[in-house]
Amino acid sequence: MKRREFIGKSAFGLFTTGFGLPLLKARPLQEESPGKIVYRTLGRTNLRIPIVSFGVMNSDSPDLIQRAMDRGINHLDTAHVYLRGNSERVIGEVVEKTGNRDDIIIATKMRFARDRQRNVFSQKGTDREPPATQEGLDEQLALSLKRLRTDYVDILYLHSCTTPEMVQYEPMMKAFEKVKKQGKTRFIGVSFHSNEPDNIRAAVDAKIWDVVLVTYNFAQEHREEIKKAIQYAAQNGVGVIAMKTQGGRRLQESGEIEVNHKAALKWVLEDENVCTTIPGMTTFDQLDMNLSVMNDLALSKSESLELNAAANLKGKLFCQNCKACIETCSQKVQIPDLMRSYMYAKGYGNYIQARDTLADLPSQHGLSQCISCSSCTASCQTGININTRINTLIQEKLHIA
Ligand code: SF4
Ligand code: SF4
Repeated sequence: MKRREFIGKSAFGLFTTGFGLPLLKARPLQEESPGKIVYRTLGRTNLRIPIVSFGVMNSDSPDLIQRAMDRGINHLDTAHVYLRGNSERVIGEVVEKTGNRDDIIIATKMRFARDRQRNVFSQKGTDREPPATQEGLDEQLALSLKRLRTDYVDILYLHSCTTPEMVQYEPMMKAFEKVKKQGKTRFIGVSFHSNEPDNIRAAVDAKIWDVVLVTYNFAQEHREEIKKAIQYAAQNGVGVIAMKTQGGRRLQESGEIEVNHKAALKWVLEDENVCTTIPGMTTFDQLDMNLSVMNDLALSKSESLELNAAANLKGKLFCQNCKACIETCSQKVQIPDLMRSYMYAKGYGNYIQARDTLADLPSQHGLSQCISCSSCTASCQTGININTRINTLIQEKLHIA
């Protein structure tokens, strides 16, 4: 029986997910006192930023953004593609209303066409991604600035590089330097979700990037290597911002498991070479909890033990994006991207991002291959049950826009 038939006959096959936010039940939390704001300096940019910022990826709530700014968060992180442009639009509206654009640090990210098999940028655009050229950047940035209702951003990232070659891709470096000279951005940076140590070093050695935005959390197998690379960045004046600090999870296949988010944030912030973090937030409770970390940054013994236990769970939940599983699939499906889509849906409750991640994949290496595959041979070296997660993506029809 083909997978499609199996799904069609299963109870889950009848289930259709919603399309939008918010998505997760907020865990009841202890009320947190407002507390203090701790600042660090973002490398040579000299920007002073609270160590907890707002990753505006999973919420387009103006009230939440406003509350965050009222509570002292002055750095909002977004991307051209988040919530299909709504993240930038809402930030633009809220910041414009304050009348204090210059007091807010807005960071956004530009994503470009790529050859996913060779891990290089492509100068040929697609329906979903502009070409990796000056024109591709200019057009994308013009739209972002319009949505953000501003004529400059503070940090402009080259989004989601997977290799040092992408980090040092000359046409993009020149294009980003040009828009910086034009005053459309104050600083430029590069972001990556994988191969972090090599990519950080490549960004530093390129000498043009002011900031790196990097996945960094307690659950990464190579976290010690990342820590050393982050130190290298800091020593060379490159500002470091950490993302995916919660280990990308709230839910487990077998039920609901919440990582100790406060402890996870503290784990990252214990590394003083990290300037700030950008946890995604969807509720006021989460905002309060994240801000409360600044009252006491020390990781307690019980919090450490809790994180260690979570990091060592059998059948790990956090995909390390190591790409080793791709070779175990005869169709060379981009399994790490499928796992990322799963994390967006089941970890963050962001079904839009989950769908868009799948839609960005070429069909010959995407979820459609899995739908017609009779038996999954893919295996994960850290114990993730790839087949189960793929089934979930299909059952929830996340490949349908
Ligand atoms: S179901 Fe598994 S083996 Fe089949 S195409 Fe998808 S990832 Fe590859
Ligand atoms: S699923 Fe496993 S093997 Fe594949 S990229 Fe993620 S951690 Fe690596």
